[in-house]
Amino acid sequence: MTPLVDPFGRAISYLRLSVTDRCDFRCTYCMAEHMQFLPKRDLLTLEELGRLSSAFIGLGARRLRITGGEPLVRKGIMTLFRSLSRHLATGALDELTVTTNGSQLARYAAELAECGVRRVNVSLDTLDAKKFAEITRWGHLPQVLDGIAAAKSAGLSVKINAVALKGFNEDELFTLIEWCAAEGHDLTFIEVMPMGEFGEAVRLDQYWPLSDLRARLATRYTINALSERTGGPASYVRLAETGQKIGFITPLTHNFCESCNRVRVTCTGEMFMCLGQEDMADLRAPLRADTDDALLVAAIRAAIARKPKGHDFDYSRARVGGAISRTMSHTGG
Ligand code: SAM
Repeated sequence: MTPLVDPFGRAISYLRLSVTDRCDFRCTYCMAEHMQFLPKRDLLTLEELGRLSSAFIGLGARRLRITGGEPLVRKGIMTLFRSLSRHLATGALDELTVTTNGSQLARYAAELAECGVRRVNVSLDTLDAKKFAEITRWGHLPQVLDGIAAAKSAGLSVKINAVALKGFNEDELFTLIEWCAAEGHDLTFIEVMPMGEFGEAVRLDQYWPLSDLRARLATRYTINALSERTGGPASYVRLAETGQKIGFITPLTHNFCESCNRVRVTCTGEMFMCLGQEDMADLRAPLRADTDDALLVAAIRAAIARKPKGHDFDYSRARVGGAISRTMSHTGG
């Protein structure tokens, strides 16, 4: 099949797939405490998620990231990983990864490794158990640390994603770096999007621009910018003193649009062609209309033909934040 290439000549090689809107944490900057989740019938079944992923892989997607909500709380999720692992075995897929809060990793790390997963991104904003309970509302730090340890012993590389929050984990900047260096984990900071649907929970004074964070880092380390890009909103540096790679994700920047290689699909089958725009295509209807994938493939191709050149620069942070919260996130890549 002809691979997916958008009107600007960019090959679509990366799919970020949300498998659930549910989560066992209630991080204050992400979810309201009493969330109204989608009715189960609206969610794609595991089989549909598998079909959809396989269709993208058939169309040239080489990297697949499973996310959520919390992907590892979806019932039967390992069935999906098991089924997707065949694409790694045939070489059709280069990489299958997962972004998780780590709460279920102690249980699943070994199985993920068996399925061919080599790397996991674990979201962890603080190493202080009390602060962890405060920011996640429902989470327990020891459970996550056990999960991370299990991932490491299963041979998975771990990247820690920490949302930068002024007045919250500002004082842990160097602690997080030193802990990751000692444990052998990569570390990426994510700039918080302070607005949107759940924005009230994040006080505006918690906004900590990564430019400030980076300047703070430079007071202790020699920072060498790395030219590598992933086609997404992350940029990387290496700290000369520790040799560590540190990433910065600034979700609302648009300086990576020209190399954008990605799309994301929500757990209800809505495909978003651009991080900063609300245009989307429904893939659930074509998936459900026929057991053959012809309609699905046609819908994917039609949507890719609409992929915009770049973010809509007029978008307000509020609108973008709202769109992103509603569709259960795009960050942490
Ligand atoms: N449950 C998984 C996890 O915790 O990684 C996957 C979904 S979670 C929504 C993906 C990432 O988005 C996490 O690293 C989380 O911290 C980040 N995130 C959520 N809300 C955010 C916000 N308002 N601003 C920046 N990052 C956010």
